[in-house]
Amino acid sequence: MCLQTNCPVCNTPVAEAFFVLTDVPVICNQLWPDDDAARNAPKGDVELCVCETCGFIWNRAFDPQRMQYAPGYENALHFSPKFQVFAEDLAEGLVERFGLHGKPIVEIGCGDGHMLDLMVQKGVASATGFDPSMKDVASPFTERDGVSICPEYFGVQHLDQRFEAILCRHVLEHLDKPLKLAQDIRQVIGERDVPIYFEVPNADWMLRAVSMWDVIYEHVGYWTAPSVTTLFERAGFEIVSVQEGYGDQFLMVEARPAAPDPTAVGPGVDAVVQSARSFGEAANAELKLWRSRLSADAGRTVIWGAGSKGITFANALGSGADTLAAMVDLNTRKHELIVPGIAVPVVAPEKLMEIEPDLVLISNTQYQAEIEQQVRDLGLQPDFAVIAG
Ligand SMILES: [Zn+2]
Repeated sequence: MCLQTNCPVCNTPVAEAFFVLTDVPVICNQLWPDDDAARNAPKGDVELCVCETCGFIWNRAFDPQRMQYAPGYENALHFSPKFQVFAEDLAEGLVERFGLHGKPIVEIGCGDGHMLDLMVQKGVASATGFDPSMKDVASPFTERDGVSICPEYFGVQHLDQRFEAILCRHVLEHLDKPLKLAQDIRQVIGERDVPIYFEVPNADWMLRAVSMWDVIYEHVGYWTAPSVTTLFERAGFEIVSVQEGYGDQFLMVEARPAAPDPTAVGPGVDAVVQSARSFGEAANAELKLWRSRLSADAGRTVIWGAGSKGITFANALGSGADTLAAMVDLNTRKHELIVPGIAVPVVAPEKLMEIEPDLVLISNTQYQAEIEQQVRDLGLQPDFAVIAG
């Protein structure tokens, strides 16, 4: 395997990984029709490194060739009320701060166009999104006048597109060459003063909270304030603000074009490096604890919540996963499909009456009380435990 041992942002070589997960599903939300297919699902290793120069964290074992999405990929966006409020405030704030009333904007990696629709609602003249995954896919968010999605990658070939701001949300973490995208965008902007807004999962938060099950193969990069600052300053932007939002889980960057500074480094790198080392120690201890707890006499175990967190957790258990009978989920589209790697079925809550689990692991703390009640209402009395992190 070819390891990416030089930092993709600043090219500093890094000697060792601080956190390793082996043989995790390459696409953890992709469920499979039968056991064999699930067992043979593409797997890869995660070897997280931290750059001591710029604070960027990346999976040096990431192989972009493996990222092939197949039918069965479950990527439905369930907008919680909390997310809806966040997105509306964001759109309104961007229109105000960037002075975008009556102006055209573009979004790179727009998904189904939810944010494009909000931006037009908040006053921009038009919002054009670019996203190759939207080829032949219909979306309810493109019905409003001014909203459109171009199902291809955004690049220098779109120089003729009119735009007064560029948005890009939850894209950078998937790129093994993030500097290239930032430089391409800078080239497209040219001499004009076009502001940009980037949003990524906040790795500073992930490290602080030891949220180890947010580490998934699909994310090659984990962005911190210093690394994202380094990226944009080197590509030719001046940072306006880097803020944490959405319960500190997102990092939100606003920047404007400037002259590139090829040696720039954002402040706060030492704290990130320290924080990464602590995360590695805590996460490894946690993993060891779960493995011994579940391989010891745990009886039949189920995990409630067949999302990426629960699926990554189950696959990281190794032989500890032998006691795992099923994963429970409320999403009916997942039922009777098989989890990649460990190959256990996803079932409806009622199935627990047949399984009679001894232990129910809860993958989302937020719903703990609700889930425990639901299980007791089925007449069952298992132990409960929350998958922390
Ligand atoms: Zn670096």
